[in-house]
Amino acid sequence: MEELHSETQKTEPEPKVIGLTGGIGSGKTTVAHFIEDFGFPVYYSDDRAKAIVNENEDLKAKIKGLLGDEAYDAKGLYDRKFVAEKVFNNKEQLHELNEIIHPAVRIDFEEWLKKQTKYMVFKETALLFELKLNKQCYKSLLVTAEDNIRTKRVMDRDGKTYREVESVMEKQMSEKDKIKLADCIIHNNTTLEDLKEQTERIIFSIE
Ligand code: ATP
Repeated sequence: MEELHSETQKTEPEPKVIGLTGGIGSGKTTVAHFIEDFGFPVYYSDDRAKAIVNENEDLKAKIKGLLGDEAYDAKGLYDRKFVAEKVFNNKEQLHELNEIIHPAVRIDFEEWLKKQTKYMVFKETALLFELKLNKQCYKSLLVTAEDNIRTKRVMDRDGKTYREVESVMEKQMSEKDKIKLADCIIHNNTTLEDLKEQTERIIFSIE
């Protein structure tokens, strides 16, 4: 007799998704790497966005439709410089571009999530609160550090000027507002050793 699997088979519970965020230079990527060291998968939203604008044909067509064929270079690769210059002073177009890219990243994340087998996974994104993605997460984890420390770290990392870092920071949600929204907080006015210890303590205490 044929067995009725659909009703009797147990399905695996979906992994808990923890949104990992922080402003420029807060240390969220460093924390994400520690999280991977502790055995949990991390989805890097920004890296995936950079990849799918070149991989996803449907997305490519939509971007060309909005910004013109010049959004892709002769090799068919996304021309970041052209796009940045084009949308720099055009808020409406930047908004429309984000309206195209953000849903594509969400779908890419959902596909990634389906393949995960660990009970808990992390989604790293600078825009967790700005895009209200925390509402789709089980918990939010914020990495925060004082503005002057973040600025110094980004200047050292990227060779940027104080003013360049500050202008990015000004456009982001303040640390104060992020702290109000976060479920868990890692304070990164500290050493890398302590950062790793805090990361371990917090991720293994998430229930
Ligand atoms: P962005 O949003 O700009 O990508 P981020 O939040 O991912 O930044 P990281 O790249 O992890 O930040 O950290 C910024 C820089 O500061 C890196 O060069 C990193 O190695 C360094 N850094 C992070 N935390 C510490 C720390 N506690 N002590 C010393 N250096 C640190």
